[in-house]
Amino acid sequence: MSNVRVRFAPSPTGALHIGGLRTALYNYLFAKSKGGQFILRIEDTDQARLVEGAEEYISQALEWLGIVPDESPKHGGPYGPYRQSDRVDIYQKYAKQLVSEDLAYYAFDTAEELQAMRDRLKAEKVANQQYNSVTRASMSNSLTLSKQEVTDLLEKGVPHVIRLKVPAKEDIRFEDLIRGWVKIHSSTMDDKVILKSGGFPTYHLANVVDDHLMKITHVIRGEEWLPSAPLHVLLYRFLNWEDSMPEFAHLPLILKPDGNGKLSKREADKQGFPIFPINWTNSNGTKNIGFKEHGYLPESITNFLALLGWNPGNDRELYSLDDLGSAFSLERIVKSGAKFDINKAQWFNQQYLRDKSPEELNNYLAADLESSGLKAGNDKIQKVTELLKDRIVFPQDLFSNGRYLFVSPEQYDPQVVQKKWDHETAAFLQEYRESINSSENWNAEIAHQLLSDQLEQAKWGFGKIMPGLRLALTGIGKGPDLMKIMEILGKDETIRRLNQAITRLANTTIKKA
Ligand code: GLU
Repeated sequence: MSNVRVRFAPSPTGALHIGGLRTALYNYLFAKSKGGQFILRIEDTDQARLVEGAEEYISQALEWLGIVPDESPKHGGPYGPYRQSDRVDIYQKYAKQLVSEDLAYYAFDTAEELQAMRDRLKAEKVANQQYNSVTRASMSNSLTLSKQEVTDLLEKGVPHVIRLKVPAKEDIRFEDLIRGWVKIHSSTMDDKVILKSGGFPTYHLANVVDDHLMKITHVIRGEEWLPSAPLHVLLYRFLNWEDSMPEFAHLPLILKPDGNGKLSKREADKQGFPIFPINWTNSNGTKNIGFKEHGYLPESITNFLALLGWNPGNDRELYSLDDLGSAFSLERIVKSGAKFDINKAQWFNQQYLRDKSPEELNNYLAADLESSGLKAGNDKIQKVTELLKDRIVFPQDLFSNGRYLFVSPEQYDPQVVQKKWDHETAAFLQEYRESINSSENWNAEIAHQLLSDQLEQAKWGFGKIMPGLRLALTGIGKGPDLMKIMEILGKDETIRRLNQAITRLANTTIKKA
């Protein structure tokens, strides 16, 4: 086991979306590629934004994809607890340590005083209306008040926060594994609150303290956290943990399909594709269909997400989760944003469905038949899945694309009728029906032989009769091998459907004649 330890640290403020899922996957794959550990840590310090059920949702979504944490609130582990709300005393201890070392300070400013400061700076045309190394001198905090005043205020329980004392003029730099050197001047940073008035930490303090105590070696997270990284670097320094500071890798964004901006839930809704791994119901009752319930297989999603921003360096596209775990490397993460392409996700699903065992495919179809109140023997189910499996994108397509193999057409596609059905077709099929009737045996080859004999006599090509024959048997204009369809339907049902079509479409025939 190597000492590589990475974490996925979501805040349970709603459903995990595809971007978060990719971050979790990349962390997991990196751990696997290094023989390290993958930790799930729940960052729930922003209690006002907590959403009930979100933590459980995150666990279930990861579980569905096979991303199993080595340590987590559920799995436990040597560095727990793994839920930040259970660690508040730890953060308070470090916040106080920073105050005692003059690296942070108490601030007692009220909301009105803070607003007045911003208004004043605005009026003075100061670009950054921040609480920082300059403005702190005119505010109500332990740097401006006397020791006694501070003690009194604290004893009285006057609401206060702890702010980090960001240095006035200093370059803060670190090397990001994806972006290279990042440099920021501390004068552009504000004195961030690290402990809130209720005693809860902010994200920054809790995140850094936990990454350190949990011995995280690499912080792999979305690009939106890049602006926070300098502050984190500063915290490592102030806490004297610089030597064991993790390496940072900020992942590029997932972009809308046209590459114009970040992929959003709104865009996904607009284009009709899912954005959440599994079903999610919002607090207002709105239901969102997940990739899972949409019919995507977990192996398609992990493969798709892995290649959405990571390039294996060759043409190979199909990777199981295990294969990805061996192949993955941070060096091959693409530096620019990755365009989300739902067609690619569907392509993966198609590939993985083809690989499913006949039993699994049969089970999908059998379940859908049952829920539609239809019955069919195993033999027939098996033949239908074999016929359709190369043409489906989702498991449920077996039933939706092959429904006519179980239920006689209730109507005939009017466009196909208009173009392909006429008196001649009806007469030809009537004769075909007779020859089927007199045949003793029945299978796809016989169906084909009888048809080609008759076509030869009529001096017709296959193309002239196939659309009409398909229409009569299935009600639509497209589908898989018609001879196999006739074999599956059986001789009697084939004859019955031909009769039915000839009778029902008789009006059309007459009208056109
Ligand atoms: N809690 C943060 C989030 O919701 C974690 C960011 C990080 O990985 O540092 O994404």
